[in-house]
This record gives sequence, C-alpha cells and structure tokens, in this order.
Amino acid sequence: MAKLRPKLTQWLNNWVYPHLSHTQIFGDLVGFTVSQSGESWYANCPRCGRIGSFYMLPGRQVGQCKSCGRTIGWFGYLRFQEHGDEDRAITRIAQLAGIDTGPDGETRNRGISRDTLGDDRPLGLFTLSLPSDDPPS
Ligand SMILES: [Zn+2]
Repeated sequence: MAKLRPKLTQWLNNWVYPHLSHTQIFGDLVGFTVSQSGESWYANCPRCGRIGSFYMLPGRQVGQCKSCGRTIGWFGYLRFQEHGDEDRAITRIAQLAGIDTGPDGETRNRGISRDTLGDDRPLGLFTLSLPSDDPPS
C-alpha cells in the first residue's frame, strides 16, 4: 500500500473519518452485510473475490480479508476505485463526508470559495464544526 502524505493522513483522521462509516465506503461491495449485532460488517473481498471473507472492524477505518490477507483502508479503497488517482479519491471522500475542503485547504466543488470569507485565511479547518475533545469552558 502506498504511503500517504502526513498531511493527508492527518486530514483524513481528524476531519474525514469521523463522518464516515463502513457502509458509506464499502457499502457497494458485492455481498456487503451487516452482522445482526450491527457492530461488524463483511463482504466479498474486493481483491481476491472470496465470498464473505472481507471483514470490517468496528472503530477502525479498514477491512481485512481472511483469505488473501489484504488490509484495505477507506481511503485506499476509494483510490483503488479511482484507478490510483489520489486527487479524485480526496474529492470523493470529502463529498462522502460532507466537508468542503481537502487536506491542503482548497475548496472542493461545494460552492464555497475563499472570496466569500472576505479574507485570506486558509479555509482548511475553519469551516468545520466537529465536536471537540476539549472540556467546555
Ligand atoms: Zn481477499
């Protein structure tokens, strides 16, 4: 698996993944099924095709195939679908997560531009409102 830029990894972990679920990313896999407990997911492996051997773990952004042993992360899966085009995968995952900017702060197809803010502040993290880990003041 190709190594991601640290900035991209940080963006995914902090801003994108909290908005996503296995269903949103892997829901189109053949055989996608949620277990009765609702806490684990499986599907046919997108790489080796083995039926029902691709498991997605709760609280993790990856699935792993019990047959071929491949581990596939959410972003890696989208990049695979976009034929290795990282920029398209970034746009896609941002859309799925419902956020406006990519890892470099650029606006992505949501009708918001830097101009509407009236200053030069990088968009990046300012337009998002995520629950904070900080205690309320
Ligand atoms: Zn497999």
